[in-house]
Amino acid sequence: MNTCPSCAYIRKDLDIRCPQCGEFYPTLAQLLAEEVAYEELHSFKGRWQRIAKADDIKQAIRQEISQFKAELTTQGIFTLIVIVIFVFALVISVL
Ligand SMILES: [Zn+2]
Repeated sequence: MNTCPSCAYIRKDLDIRCPQCGEFYPTLAQLLAEEVAYEELHSFKGRWQRIAKADDIKQAIRQEISQFKAELTTQGIFTLIVIVIFVFALVISVL
């Protein structure tokens, strides 16, 4: 957060406005609100809340799953596969 978000001018700690382009720097409250909104959009809890609030639950679940797939990286896929293999091995060893 040491540069202006709109023109990348190096900001000083006490400035509230960019001297280069006149843009107001985001305040801590704004940054926190953005962080909370992002968390809610991407967290498991946020997904459940959206599904629970939706009128058409089936449609909401389908939408969340497709969004989840779109966000999945190769590392995420790898992690899921490892978890599935681990659970499978655990179940096999118990039986
Ligand atoms: Zn600026």
